[in-house]
Amino acid sequence: MKIQQFKYLHCSEDHEEGIILVDPETESIPVTDERGNVLYYCMGGQHVFSSDMNGLIMQSLLDDE
Ligand SMILES: [Zn+2]
Repeated sequence: MKIQQFKYLHCSEDHEEGIILVDPETESIPVTDERGNVLYYCMGGQHVFSSDMNGLIMQSLLDDE
């Protein structure tokens, strides 16, 4: 999987850098919300956010595995 290129994402709320949340057991499977959007942790704002667009890209990549 090519998770590295999606590891960081700028938060759309406060434009701080967010880091992708991954399953703590596998450390490679991204955590998603109920809609399948990948979740990121905003380090500046200290909150979790999701990105619909990047989530879709991630999902499509995972489907190819
Ligand atoms: Zn934020």
